[in-house]
Amino acid sequence: MSSMQEFQPGLEWARAQDAADELAGFRSEFCIPPHGTDEQVYLCGNSLGLLPRATRQAVLDELDDWSTHAVEAHFRGRHPWMPYHSFVREHLAALVGAEPAEVVAMNSLTANLHLMLVSFYRPTPERHAILLEKRAFPSDQYALQSQVRLHGYDPATALIELEGDEAEGTISLDAVARVLEQHGERIAVVVLPGVQYLTGQVFDLKTITALAHAKGCIVGFDLAHAVGNVPVNLHDSGCDFAVWCHYKYCNSGPGAVAGCFVHARHAHSERPRLAGWWGHDQSTRFQMGPDFVPTPGADGWQLSNPPILALAPLRVSLQIFARAGIDRLRAKSLRLTGYLAQLIAHEVPQVLDVLTPTEPQRRGCQLSLRVKGPRDSGRALYEYLGSRGVVGDWREPDVIRVAPTALYNRFEDAWRFVDTVKHWHAGRN
Ligand SMILES: *Cc1c(COP(=O)(O)O)cnc(C)c1O
Repeated sequence: MSSMQEFQPGLEWARAQDAADELAGFRSEFCIPPHGTDEQVYLCGNSLGLLPRATRQAVLDELDDWSTHAVEAHFRGRHPWMPYHSFVREHLAALVGAEPAEVVAMNSLTANLHLMLVSFYRPTPERHAILLEKRAFPSDQYALQSQVRLHGYDPATALIELEGDEAEGTISLDAVARVLEQHGERIAVVVLPGVQYLTGQVFDLKTITALAHAKGCIVGFDLAHAVGNVPVNLHDSGCDFAVWCHYKYCNSGPGAVAGCFVHARHAHSERPRLAGWWGHDQSTRFQMGPDFVPTPGADGWQLSNPPILALAPLRVSLQIFARAGIDRLRAKSLRLTGYLAQLIAHEVPQVLDVLTPTEPQRRGCQLSLRVKGPRDSGRALYEYLGSRGVVGDWREPDVIRVAPTALYNRFEDAWRFVDTVKHWHAGRN
């Protein structure tokens, strides 16, 4: 692969990068949505990842096992349903840099955030605040507000919102350190993102965790935009818990079963938890006793027997990630998004501002863009792109997000995006 010093703005150069890309073959494992007789330039894997071709059959297999074996499929299916959630464990652990017992696939992201807070947000009069970022994803804000109220506190005083201190609203480590220095003693839990959904900023999980632990706070991360995008090394980060979804970069389908990490130091936690039979010690679960004994590790937070039809896509998707490897994907992603940023700066600097940090280590694959000029320009460009089969997404009030993913996007996609922006701009002048 050519280094970025050799960057050239033409389509030929983009195609040469694709031809030399050792991961390029993975694209053919996905259904790329059509645009007329062509394919979309799909840059929206940060919102809903594409369907892997193998997923359809994997779901059909479960339907077949249901029709053939019915209840016996719990033990006799090709992928027996009883231990089904454990079939994703190793690959999921590898993807997020965790020990196998630290991760579990269950529920949805926001539900898992609540389950984690039930155990890890144990406020006292002296220490009952939660630190979050001011522009946190709304669901996270609602979850944290409601948890604070559940314990009888007032979100107006118990939620401490970290404000962006850098241009474009990104947050420096110094700002995190300062707020912890000032308020750390009254903060019970810190909940921050791995990658911020609006700006695309990557957070340094390990440093934040160390800063917060030094003040006696529990630390949890929402990795919705991080998992499958950047390596997160959860175990080494030392954070107490993390939650994420699998329908974005993990390509497991709308509303896919989500992920949850509980650090090994809490494997035998006696913290209160909301319990269900699937979290009960597996060896005695079917004795149907009245007393809950948690399974050690993240599994102990499960409530219900898992939705098999919804887990099949995750199983398929994680196999793809296991073959590609998150470190190889990240290496390609750095080049691909670096190329997109370079091409924007070279070809359309008069049209687009990039809000995402410019340092490669502080961003994942997503670039957040703001259109220069009159207020309605952003929306107009976004709609033009869509009409040309170039799919990003729009976040109010004025941000276009584009996310070339390493698994299925090409350098040519980045080139076609910028080329389409150029055409739009030319047509307005
Ligand atoms: C996508 C996303 C969610 C969505 O929550 P669900 O429970 O999966 O609907 C929540 N938080 C963040 C930060 C997200 O990016």
